[in-house]
Amino acid sequence: MKELIWLTCLLLWLCGGHTLYEENPFLSIKQSKRTQLSLDTCFCELQGPVEECCCDVETVNRLNQLQVYPLANYLTGMSYFRFFKVDLLKECPFWQDDSSKCVMKGCHVEPCSEEEVPVFLKATDASISKPATPQQGHCSSVPASCSCDEDTLDEQNELGAIDSTISSKQQEEFDKWKEFDDSEVNFCELDDEQSRSLSYVDLSLNPERYTGYAGPSADRIWKAIYRENCFLPEEDITRHSIIDYSRMQGMCLEKRAFYRLISGMHTSITIHLTAHYLQSEPSATNPTFGPNFEEFNKRFDPQRTASQGPLWLKNLYFTYLLVLRAITKGEPLWESESFFTGNNLDEKIIKETIRQIVRAAKSCPSLFDETQMFNDDSSIKLKSQFKQHFRNISRIMDCVGCEKCRLWGKVQVRGIGTALKILFNDVQRLKLHRTEIVSLFNALGRFSSSINQLNRFRSNVQADQTGEDV
Ligand SMILES: Cc1cc2nc3c(=O)[nH]c(=O)nc-3n(C[C@H](O)[C@H](O)[C@H](O)COP(=O)(O)OP(=O)(O)OC[C@H]3O[C@@H](n4cnc5c(N)ncnc54)[C@H](O)[C@@H]3O)c2cc1C
Repeated sequence: MKELIWLTCLLLWLCGGHTLYEENPFLSIKQSKRTQLSLDTCFCELQGPVEECCCDVETVNRLNQLQVYPLANYLTGMSYFRFFKVDLLKECPFWQDDSSKCVMKGCHVEPCSEEEVPVFLKATDASISKPATPQQGHCSSVPASCSCDEDTLDEQNELGAIDSTISSKQQEEFDKWKEFDDSEVNFCELDDEQSRSLSYVDLSLNPERYTGYAGPSADRIWKAIYRENCFLPEEDITRHSIIDYSRMQGMCLEKRAFYRLISGMHTSITIHLTAHYLQSEPSATNPTFGPNFEEFNKRFDPQRTASQGPLWLKNLYFTYLLVLRAITKGEPLWESESFFTGNNLDEKIIKETIRQIVRAAKSCPSLFDETQMFNDDSSIKLKSQFKQHFRNISRIMDCVGCEKCRLWGKVQVRGIGTALKILFNDVQRLKLHRTEIVSLFNALGRFSSSINQLNRFRSNVQADQTGEDV
């Protein structure tokens, strides 16, 4: 009872308009008039309906600031969502890895040591590799506090042994079935669970921010994503240096949605790196980070982006709404998921926080209508191409030459891939891996935090223009 009262208070506090903002670092920044004006133009199109969605920018801003952002921020800080299992050493499958990495030491990711991995994760991993034991109370079901007698277990295994030998030919067949099943529902390629280079990373210790990753290596990744894997008009693939979205208006909804999803994620990455930009020397022992208006402006100013910058900002709202819609549609999945952490209260809080996110999202009449996509016979081929292209993008993440960017790239692409998996499959028949759940909610956390940052940039500009304090 006490637990429930505590939990209710916490959630009421989270949703009561209390945002978990850090101190507003923008207050101390004074901008030149030129930057302010450009920022204004950057934002002037950021209003009204989010095309192809059923919400407008203003509604999303309110929903996000008062409810989704504080809840998602809280959720992703919990240990179930903080520890991400990832293979950061996987070779790039498309080209030889180059050496143009980050300029900063800080772009390296330190995986968790054995001791740092929470017991509940070691436990669930152990149960994957160990044969399941039939009686309750054995290691595989409660390994965290297990004190099993190995000899007793051996004896029991021998007596009740079943022949589980599988020939290599049969194993090959099983692998093929699994591959087929995966390709039917998955939009992303997940890391191989058997890989020796998988490790756990604590996302909270590796925040997404400026790393200095740029130049030919980063360019090559974005080019491979947009030019080779988005569905673009021929002339945009070959002739123009900046993709003009207006030339895509004649294309079908699915192809435009694909581009907007990726562009929205790209916008989110850019907002985070400009909101947490390097403010000291790259070689400093303890580098400092903070918002950089000039950099933000440079990257979204319509004059410098052939008028595309404001559209890129709006695409962030599109990506956010699609992910939020998937989380809403996935409600039955969250209700039946245990969110095992070995701590009963934590598990209850996770469930209740997700319920609150879903409830908040449902207060919007409609976020994104996935039934408008892939809804006729000719869509079968299109859906398969869509999946193939998205899978390629998930594989391109292994070519990102900066570990921290690769880490967050993987989280976000996998999160969007999970959202697509939920939207375009029957949720009653879906079972998600922990890594997909973790990626999905962290992706929501990233996009939600970007919208939050964007509005802080905007209110600072408005306050500067009217001479008010923010
Ligand atoms: C997966 C990934 C993750 C990254 N993570 C980080 C990170 O955490 N920290 C960090 O400092 N750097 C990160 N980077 C690098 C960063 O994204 C930029 O590539 C880098 O800052 C150089 O920026 P740029 O101005 O050259 O343009 P880029 O951002 O590299 O953009 C390349 C081109 O894409 C187009 N474009 C730009 N934005 C959009 C958009 N939103 N929608 C559509 N088209 C667009 C423009 O034509 C632009 O010239 C990451 C790169 C990748 C590929």
